[in-house]
Amino acid sequence: MFIDSHCHLFYDDFKNDIADVISRANNAGVQYFIVPATNHETALQAIALAEKYPSIFVSVGFHPLDLKDFSTERLALIEEMVSHPKVVAIGEIGIDYFYDTSPREYQKEIFSLQIELAIRKNLPIIVHTRDSVQDAVDIALRHAKSHPEWRNQGKRGVFHCFTGDTVQAKALFDNNFLISFPGPITFKKSIMPDLIKEIGIEHVMVETDSPYLTPVPYRGKRNEPSYIPLIAQKIADTLNISIEEVGRVTTLNAKKLFNLPI
Ligand SMILES: [Zn+2]
Ligand SMILES: [Zn+2]
Repeated sequence: MFIDSHCHLFYDDFKNDIADVISRANNAGVQYFIVPATNHETALQAIALAEKYPSIFVSVGFHPLDLKDFSTERLALIEEMVSHPKVVAIGEIGIDYFYDTSPREYQKEIFSLQIELAIRKNLPIIVHTRDSVQDAVDIALRHAKSHPEWRNQGKRGVFHCFTGDTVQAKALFDNNFLISFPGPITFKKSIMPDLIKEIGIEHVMVETDSPYLTPVPYRGKRNEPSYIPLIAQKIADTLNISIEEVGRVTTLNAKKLFNLPI
């Protein structure tokens, strides 16, 4: 069994065949889906999906590339959504220096503001980074250290599509954060396999980030959660363990992080 810990099933890419996408995933052993919103509008769409499909859970927040949609009024609406039983995290939030669609200081400020929301609600965060891992790690760890009560007994969040190094990964693990790996781990030039050889899978989850980041051999096509076993198999081969073991550990990590009632 697997959980796709990060898939954007609300996008139009899935409008015509979402039921098929979910049943194909189920047939491939992917039983649950975490669907991270990117702004207020997609949060509403994600929650609507979660109300329709028992296997879908949701995170709410403003993606760093969607900060044009951010306002304190809309953040208050996001905060209200947290009481919905299928909202399990704040995300995806973070900083993105690759596209740099908003000033860096502003991105950091809104990232911090949303971590504060997660701390108030005692929820985990789903963190997006691109060319910004160190700054995002610094901000997340600063909040973790000043709020020991935040998920003290459990985990505090995940850095998704992790592209940092071993030192950054270990600093995150030491402070109760996880990381997750998507399709690019299957690409020939990926650095992710070397990283996972050093850190193991104890603090790792799998994700597709559908409809993006499609794994080999479907690279270039729309991504979907039924491809999770391709990512898990690559991790299994890299670590010389069984795909069942990858499924067992990553599923347990997702269940614990998101406190899933399953
Ligand atoms: Zn992301
Ligand atoms: Zn994403």
